[in-house]
Order: sequence, then C-alpha cells, then structure tokens
Amino acid sequence: MRFPLKMTANLTKYIAAKKITGVKKFPLVMMLEPLHSCNLTCTGCGRIREYKSTINEIMSVEKCLAAADECGAPIVSICGGEPLIYPEIGRLTKELLDRGKHIYMCTNGMFIRKRLHEFTPSSSFFWNVHLDGMERTHDLCVERDGVFRDAIEGIKAAKAAGFMVCSNTTVYRETDLNEVAELFEYLHGLGVDGYMISPAYSYSAVATQDIFLTREDIINKFRDAQAVLDKYNVMMSPIYYEFLRGERQLECVAWGTPTYNPKGWKAPCYPMTDGHHATFKDFLEKTNWDSYGPGRDPRCNDCMMHVGFEPSAVLGGNAKFGDTWKLLSWQLGGKLGGARGKVQPASNGQSNGPSSGNGHAVKTPVASAAQEELVSSEGRLRVL
Ligand code: SF4
Repeated sequence: MRFPLKMTANLTKYIAAKKITGVKKFPLVMMLEPLHSCNLTCTGCGRIREYKSTINEIMSVEKCLAAADECGAPIVSICGGEPLIYPEIGRLTKELLDRGKHIYMCTNGMFIRKRLHEFTPSSSFFWNVHLDGMERTHDLCVERDGVFRDAIEGIKAAKAAGFMVCSNTTVYRETDLNEVAELFEYLHGLGVDGYMISPAYSYSAVATQDIFLTREDIINKFRDAQAVLDKYNVMMSPIYYEFLRGERQLECVAWGTPTYNPKGWKAPCYPMTDGHHATFKDFLEKTNWDSYGPGRDPRCNDCMMHVGFEPSAVLGGNAKFGDTWKLLSWQLGGKLGGARGKVQPASNGQSNGPSSGNGHAVKTPVASAAQEELVSSEGRLRVL
C-alpha cells in the first residue's frame, strides 16, 4: 500500500459522500499553520517574510479545532512556521486525531526528539520531514549547519518509536535529481515510509527568485525524475506526475487545499495571498475562483504546485477514462515502511548518531542550547 488503508478508505468515503450529495467545491487537505514563527530562515520560504508583522502570533488550540471542524477536510497538514515550536502541539494533534482526522506534521525535524513523547504512533499520523538533499545541500538550503543531522536523528527516533515518517523535498532550479535519489535511498534504509516531492514556485513573498523553476523547467526536471525516483514509495499521484511531465493538463483547484493561519483563511491559495477570510464559508464563496490559474492570472502561469493541482485528479473537471484504475493500482502498488535494518551510512561516511533506526533503544537526546531557547517560548508568543 502506498498510504495506510484506513486513510485511503476514509478519503474515498468522504469524496463519494460529497459527490453523491452534489457538493461542487470541497477540501481534501487543510493546511493548518498555528504559527509562523520558525527556528530557521530557509531561502525558499515565503512565510517568515510575508508574515513578518505577525510572526509572534499563535492560534489557540480551540481556534485551530474550530477551523478544522468548519472546513471538514479529512486530512490536516500541520505546518507553519515550525509546528514543533507550538507549545500545545501534542494536544492539538490528539484533538484532531480524536476527530478522525489524518495528520501530516510538516517539520524541519530539529525538535522531533525533544517532543516525541507528546505523540502516540498511529496509522493516521505521519511525521513529514522537510529535506531538500543530502547533508551539505540541505544545510545550504536551510542556511544552517547541523540541520540535516538533527532531522535524521529525529527520523531515527520516530521510526524506533513506531511512527510513520515521510519526507518532503522541494525541487529548485539547481536540484540534482540523482542526489534526490541518493537521499531517498538513504531514507529508505532508515525505514522512511514515503516521499513527497514538489516543484518550487516563485511567489512574491520570496525575495530570491533565481532559484525557482519556470513551467518549462519543471516539465524538463520531472521528465528526468521518473527513471531515478520510481522505485521509491513516492507519494505523488501518477496523474499529478503526468501533469508535471507536461503530458496532460490539470486545472487549479486551490480550494481543495485551503490554508488557515493566524490571519484567517488565506485566499486564494497556499503560495499566493490576495486576502484572508474569517470563515471557511467566506473563503469558499467570496473568492473569485474563475480569475485564478494559468492563463487567467499572470502570477499563476509558472505554478504547478501540488496544493493547486494534485487534488485536481479527483476534484477537477478534466478526468480521463482510466484515471480511477490508475489511482487504485498506484495506491495498491506502493510500499510503506522502507527497508528498516539496512541503514546506509551518510554520504560523508560518518555515523549519523546513536540509533540505527532498526528498533534499538534510542538514547534520550540532550537538547542543544539553541533548541532550549527556541522551544521554551512562553511569554514570547502571543496566543490569538
Ligand atoms: S495556479 Fe492555483 S495554486 Fe498556483 S498560484 Fe495560482 S491560484 Fe495558487
């Protein structure tokens, strides 16, 4: 299986119920940003720049839950900012799981070991660790040495404790797909369950534009990607993959992956902001969806981001004969769980820490001074 059976079954049931009742626009994945504060200043991140004025604001757990309830998406991707800085991340996660949500915790991985005890392994919960390459490349992308190693230690601890883990890689202009394959092989040996991969998109909140890809660049990159990445449990649907290779058209359905943050529901989409709405209903009804997408808004022309297009395979209007079978065989043909016990050395040949990730006990990690300072944020963040 590519995803846990329970997640696939719940998602299928949810989509079928919406379609049977004639609902035209409905969300699949809620991007929940309880805060924008982060311990890193990654080159490609727009959040820390766009939300500079509200960077110290966080939402209460109750506010996050009310938004998740109103939206109703079966999958919640908790991101940010760095969600593991959020003081009540354990309670927020548990409350969402109790509501039957499936969760991806999108993190840079540096605080997994420190906060692991606040979580319980579940087939509805994935740690989703952002890694843009092997050690040197990743540390360059996030502008700090040691981040890759901390993230790897977090992954090992999470796998040893019985959690599901996936990784999330952004493909930039300079990304070497052979290195991405090397990263996947390495993570595969740690027992990582799946791999997300997405093209970087140049949006106005990011000052550095020359690292991003045009539509043509994306198509060329992803045509090359298939041969090197196909043997791993890549969690990117084959239909979205065809779109990235330029083999089919998909329409933007940004309402399928709405973003909620301390300012409200971000319209129209995760990368681009024309406004915020207080309620999901207003977001859905007051956004002029017909004015967005490639060919309609020049800011959208190079966008092929998964938040806009991946849900289109099931929510969009240009399905092809055979798509359902293609998606089903893709789900059944996947393989969760990596190859635990076959831990690879890091590319520089050095050990990556105290655990092999194959079930041996993990020593209680000692937080670095930087971690203590960042996670103990009481009094520095303003709860909304
Ligand atoms: S194409 Fe869709 S997801 Fe991409 S920037 Fe435009 S509205 Fe957002």
